[in-house]
Amino acid sequence: MEHGLVIKNTGSWYIVKTDDGKEIKCKIKGNFRLKGIRSTNPIAVGDRVEIENNKEGTAFISKIEPRENYIIRKSSNLSKESHILAANIDQALLIITVSNPTTHTIFIDRFLATAEAYRIPVKIVINKTDSYNEDDTEYMNALIHLYDTIGYDCFKVSALTGKGIEEIKSLLKGKITLLSGNSGVGKSTLINTILPGLNLKTGNVSTSHHKGMHTTTFSEMFPLPEGGYIIDTPGVKGFGTIDFEPEEVAHFFPEIFKISHDCRFNNCTHRHEPGCAVLAAVEQHRISESRYASYLSIIDDSTEGKYREGY
Ligand code: GDP
Ligand code: ZN
Repeated sequence: MEHGLVIKNTGSWYIVKTDDGKEIKCKIKGNFRLKGIRSTNPIAVGDRVEIENNKEGTAFISKIEPRENYIIRKSSNLSKESHILAANIDQALLIITVSNPTTHTIFIDRFLATAEAYRIPVKIVINKTDSYNEDDTEYMNALIHLYDTIGYDCFKVSALTGKGIEEIKSLLKGKITLLSGNSGVGKSTLINTILPGLNLKTGNVSTSHHKGMHTTTFSEMFPLPEGGYIIDTPGVKGFGTIDFEPEEVAHFFPEIFKISHDCRFNNCTHRHEPGCAVLAAVEQHRISESRYASYLSIIDDSTEGKYREGY
């Protein structure tokens, strides 16, 4: 019996890296199911597992250790089953760009709120800084000010020129990191800059490495030379969207949640209630309008029970 980390999941088998550094191809033992989680895959990359070797040099996963966290994607709108994309994630880096393409604040805020719900710390990486004009730079600085103030660290980089990349490498060291971002923001370019040996295809979305892969069953962790892993979940821009209850959305906007303690009613949804401290703070610009708009939009979705793939 050995312990190891699941670093690749092809849908039919798993690669487990054992604590002494061997990579072993494993199947799941028997009718392996996890209590309380209805998922199409009981095991995901990032899982710490126990394996039993057999004579053919392959092995069975016989036990899974409790997870720190995990991210899911729903199989479909109707299905109650979900797909576990990855487990035990230490942090997420959200790659955004101010222009070409523009990452909208609603996308950023949905990502951040979902990460809060999953208890995964997020750092924001602003890429393509080599290409920004004056207006772009001004907008970028406003974004940095906004998110830094709330508590999300921001980093300015250029995957193309390598500027700021050393700092990103030190963030990644020894950790399991999920890299996310809309297509076109330079995720593959960034991974290639950090891991030159990997050679992911970049450029046009339709020719990227995402194409042709069964996006809901495949994910992989790439080991970093200085320790740690990057998780790439092909075709997944962010996390699977969580079905938020309207009353709980504020919990995942730290600056709104903090102020909500001063609302007159403790079930205040911060939309129209009298004595709402959040509304007052928005009027006084102590809560940003874009953040509040994102908050409302998530509430609207949860009220209507909508499900939006990747936002
Ligand atoms: P992905 O879809 O997020 O994986 O994005 P890609 O890595 O494929 O990059 C999309 C396009 O943006 C490619 O044409 C890249 O060359 C370009 N790109 C990526 N990083 C940078 C950067 O830092 N600066 C500039 N100017 N272009 C970049
Ligand atoms: Zn309120």
